[in-house]
Amino acid sequence: MNNLYARLAAQFPAESDRIFAWLPDGAALSYGAVETSSARYANTLRALGVGIGDRVAVQVEKSIEMLMLYLGCLRAGAVFLPLNPAYTAGELDYFVGDAQPALIVCDPGMAGAISALPAAAGIAVETLDADRGGTLAELANGASQAFDTVTRDDGDLAAILYTSGTTGRSKGAMLSHGNLASNAFTLREAWRFTANDVLLHALPIFHTHGLFVATNVTLASGASMIFLPRFDAGAVIAALPRATVMMGVPTFYIRLLGEAGFDRELVAHMRLFVSGSAPLAPDIHRAFASRTGHAILERYGMTETNMNTSNPYDGDRIPGTVGFPLPGVEIRIAEPATGRVLPQGEVGVIEIRGPNVFKGYWRMPEKTEAEFRDDFFISGDLGRIDDRGYVSIVGREKDLIIAGGFNVYPAEVEDAIGELEAVHEVAVIGLPHPDLGEAVVAVVVPHDPGFADAAAIIAALADKLARFKQPRQVLFVDGLPKNSMGKVQKAMLRRQHARLFG
Ligand code: ATP
Ligand code: MG
Repeated sequence: MNNLYARLAAQFPAESDRIFAWLPDGAALSYGAVETSSARYANTLRALGVGIGDRVAVQVEKSIEMLMLYLGCLRAGAVFLPLNPAYTAGELDYFVGDAQPALIVCDPGMAGAISALPAAAGIAVETLDADRGGTLAELANGASQAFDTVTRDDGDLAAILYTSGTTGRSKGAMLSHGNLASNAFTLREAWRFTANDVLLHALPIFHTHGLFVATNVTLASGASMIFLPRFDAGAVIAALPRATVMMGVPTFYIRLLGEAGFDRELVAHMRLFVSGSAPLAPDIHRAFASRTGHAILERYGMTETNMNTSNPYDGDRIPGTVGFPLPGVEIRIAEPATGRVLPQGEVGVIEIRGPNVFKGYWRMPEKTEAEFRDDFFISGDLGRIDDRGYVSIVGREKDLIIAGGFNVYPAEVEDAIGELEAVHEVAVIGLPHPDLGEAVVAVVVPHDPGFADAAAIIAALADKLARFKQPRQVLFVDGLPKNSMGKVQKAMLRRQHARLFG
């Protein structure tokens, strides 16, 4: 029985009163209720004609019901396909047309617009809201709370998750029951999760971080979570005293550091802070450690691969690195153009092989073929491995800057600028330049909104970075364009400033 749900459920007693989730309204959901609620959704899906392998597209606000629907899909053998609620109806036309789901589940307010989409013609639409209302919730309320979880093989699809669309159009990553199970149990061990843990969950659940990392690891440990609708610094600070672990994107930690009430005493009892989905600036890592005494554990993953590397639970968590390959995961660094495996210490593209790596891009066999080399997935991230085995990411291949023929890795320049007193956040990009081909440009959010001294920033880098890595121009902005995972939208920045040098 390799159904992911069955493997998770084996870790928690189904009749148990033990709490799985503390909900925003103060109510709690027990593990016994996880079993019965997910069964109600599984029965409802079956009654609606959703068969094994059929996709269920879900675009709803974050709610515990959405998680029960996710588990119901697993149990019924359907493929869970969550979509960012920020997508407009027009954008959904692409996803629905691409995914060809048997059922679309959306917020009640979106049902009319979604039903009217050309791609949705002939597809059933049901609704679900954050208060356990909607047509699907009503059907589930009336359904049986017993369901025999269907047998699935390791290679059978559990979910299709679309990538974040940072470098281009989002691609549907096909994830199997085996992919998700292997990563859940590996992370449980790596991060020492037990039934005594309480995870503070403020991440979105349409993305691998909040859906699989946070939720599956909690279930795999029989632990509890404090389920917040979104990240709100005040709400997080209020909930932290009841938590033992927090998972976040770097922006969460940047925002917490901006709160006076966020101090050493508040988090003295915490066991672990985990960061991922975007690079955590080393100066933020250090500021967090000096404020709280906690070294944030940074890890590296992708929609396509689940989690690949992690800083150690015991041992040094080194700022600016993403740690070691997780057990069972192989990482190699290759020359991008040829695929030649590079000697230790050199920068190249990170390639990944292991039970965590996805089955390919949905309906994109050529792209899938192009992104694998000897069973290794070509991540598109550039990195290096140091002599102790720590992996560092130096930027995405698509963000590499070639200035006057020299490679400039944005992360190195960002780290040097990020350390400067005046700088709150920074993104480094390459812009078209008549002489250099591309020129290095730093886009800086200063601590003090009045600060705009580009010369001072460049001067401060003089003995830190070789001349060709130093920015030709520094632009000052109020904030960086980021998506809901806190990823800086560098393609957007490049478009906005494309004509800076004429
Ligand atoms: P798309 O593939 O559609 O362009 P995306 O790559 O942003 O979007 P995700 O799968 O959400 O979509 O993100 C994975 C990427 O996030 C990784 O390839 C890497 O570039 C980045 N990332 C994740 N964790 C880290 C980390 N700890 N440090 C630096 N980058 C990270
Ligand atoms: Mg990607």
